[in-house]
Amino acid sequence: MKRKILVTSALPYANGSIHLGHLVEYIQTDIWVRFQKMRGNECHYVCADDTHGTPIMLRAEKEGITPEQLIARVAEEHKADFAAFHVRFDNYGSTHSAETRGFSEAIYKKLRDAGLIEKRSIEQYYDPVKQMFLPDRFIKGECPKCGAKDQYGDNCEACGAAYAPTELVNPYSAVSGAKPELRNSDHYFFKLSDPHCQQFLRAWTRGGALQPEAANKMQEWLGGEGENKLSDWDISRDAPYFGFEIPGAPGKYFYVWLDAPIGYMGSFRQLCSQRAEDSVQRMATPSPLAGEGGGEGALDFGAFWDKEKAAQEKTELYHFIGKDILYFHALFWPAMLEHAGFRTPTKLFAHGFLTVNGEKMSKSRGTFITARSYIEHVKNTEYLRYYYAAKLNGTMEDIDLSLDDFVAKVNSDLIGKYINIASRCAGFITKQFDGLLSSVKIEQVKFDNHEKLISKNNKRHYGPDYSSREILEKTLPLFRGWLNDIEVNYEARDFGKAIRQIMLAADVANVFVNESKPWELAKLDTQESRDALHWVCTTSIELFRQLTLCLKPILPNLATEVEAYLNIPSLKWADIEAMLMSGHKINNYKHLMTRLDPKLIEAMVAANQESLKPMTEPHSQQRHAEAQQHTPSSPLPAGVGDFISIDDFMKVDLRVAKIVNAEHVEGAEKLLKLTLDIGEAKPRTVFAGIKSAYDPEKLKGRMTVMVANLAPRKMKFGLSEGMVLAASGESPGLFILGPDDGAQPGMRVK
Ligand SMILES: [Zn+2]
Repeated sequence: MKRKILVTSALPYANGSIHLGHLVEYIQTDIWVRFQKMRGNECHYVCADDTHGTPIMLRAEKEGITPEQLIARVAEEHKADFAAFHVRFDNYGSTHSAETRGFSEAIYKKLRDAGLIEKRSIEQYYDPVKQMFLPDRFIKGECPKCGAKDQYGDNCEACGAAYAPTELVNPYSAVSGAKPELRNSDHYFFKLSDPHCQQFLRAWTRGGALQPEAANKMQEWLGGEGENKLSDWDISRDAPYFGFEIPGAPGKYFYVWLDAPIGYMGSFRQLCSQRAEDSVQRMATPSPLAGEGGGEGALDFGAFWDKEKAAQEKTELYHFIGKDILYFHALFWPAMLEHAGFRTPTKLFAHGFLTVNGEKMSKSRGTFITARSYIEHVKNTEYLRYYYAAKLNGTMEDIDLSLDDFVAKVNSDLIGKYINIASRCAGFITKQFDGLLSSVKIEQVKFDNHEKLISKNNKRHYGPDYSSREILEKTLPLFRGWLNDIEVNYEARDFGKAIRQIMLAADVANVFVNESKPWELAKLDTQESRDALHWVCTTSIELFRQLTLCLKPILPNLATEVEAYLNIPSLKWADIEAMLMSGHKINNYKHLMTRLDPKLIEAMVAANQESLKPMTEPHSQQRHAEAQQHTPSSPLPAGVGDFISIDDFMKVDLRVAKIVNAEHVEGAEKLLKLTLDIGEAKPRTVFAGIKSAYDPEKLKGRMTVMVANLAPRKMKFGLSEGMVLAASGESPGLFILGPDDGAQPGMRVK
């Protein structure tokens, strides 16, 4: 039976670029959705930009544009990035839409009528310098649970605790650095602590919607039977705010929870409207997308969201999210939906964070990589899709992008195993058989001459006496067995296991080619050898077709190219059994994929390495809508990360340095080797990426500024013991800093 599935990914915040951390989730979701569509299920994938909040308002103000203009621009950037990574939404909307507003208001009213909304006067932090109430993320301080420093006002990134900003120890405003004052203001709360909510959530979180590790976490958060550990959620913010005003509450706006996840519904409603328009048009012209996994016919919103209708129609709803927003999606969101008469999610699929080379993504190490930067340097986005897929296993474990392993894996698996099958056999079909595949069946092939060609030394897998036919007969069941398991593993989001099986199957196909030696057969000139060659190459191409089918959810673009090459319609899961063969004509083979050159990765990291700017670490690698809603980036110039406190700044030990020597480094394209005197007994060696701008001779004797307490870094050319500061921007040029006359080596810059 055709399943009816609605899938979402978390909404990215419209105040920043998509980076490789985000892409884990969108690629994971997209693979799963493409798999469902290939299986013939009706599957809809929607998402949207999360567009509201103070940061958007302030940033637009600073740029001299309206928030609407800002979010329209960011939406275009986000859409272009997703498209480049082949993340194919059925609709990508915006939370700033009439649809989302409608659902926010309707849900709010239903919760209010159910007695689950309460107005309370609360004390909230107010920034006396900036003259505004401070959203949670604009307040920092020490975690009340574990004491970690510089934590945000809503939860701790060190221990994961959630709390109120007023619980922070030694709070300060992240906007101005001022000590915030407590002032009173009326806020609206959703009563998550209400016995009805508690009771419902106890049952819901045990009902199979959560991964086992997430369900355990929930029991911890919910506490034992009779305990009441949930607190009510503040769902309003005071003007000035960019968002939806709460009905009947002038000057009060819905805070993130009452509009961001509701954007899932708003975006799906838009899709339903588009389909309604499409079906009017389709009366005249049938859509070429018909039958491509839900691209057909009108869509009924209620069938996917209305509590009773969804149960009747057995529709499924899945949210892919990062583990950092599990609390909100597993407690707040289902409680809200349930008490407003909507259906709750079938399952939440939470994933872990991305680390790069085993560490948090870092601007200083050049591993905080944006989607745009990857596209510019590496270009082929399917390499990354493949690598992420190989690492994903459907759990909440973090996944690591090890850059060396990335290059090695792409090249050995995709080029060395998969593409290799086609590239070794395709030419024979074109040149010797005019593109026509063999119609000879396995049992008709004669191997008299062929068997003599097969090396006796190269048979360790199959014993000494197997012919190609026997190899195939022996291995094809293995090949097929793996292909059958692959489907199960895709469904379970264990893409890593699916890939291991696909690569085992590719190994078998390669053994078949190796042992059959088409290049040797081609040297013989008999009818038997010609038949054998034709059959061997046809079989290899068919195995290649089947592997392509299995990889298609991960490598959709490459699969399309293979389909064009094989002259076949778009591959669906049901095509796994169908054999090509019998006189089918394929097109000329063009090179399908090139090796991933490690230099591209090095260049990307170097371009991202802000080694010449003060270090700014991202607070969270998974920049989720909710988490980032409150990141106070707006009052800063574009491209600047976040405010830091004076204490943070003082951690950087800047010293006046005299350049006592400067020289070229053999083999380095960008670096100069500098010897710097900062008043220490032994001068420092620093490798600086300023070769394009400076003649080393002219640097000798100059004064500059260096970071003296940067951890020494082992580079290819030696140990670098700090870095010099230089300015660069959009326009060309690179300019090292220098102090005014009179400054002495070793003086502290502060
Ligand atoms: Zn903590």
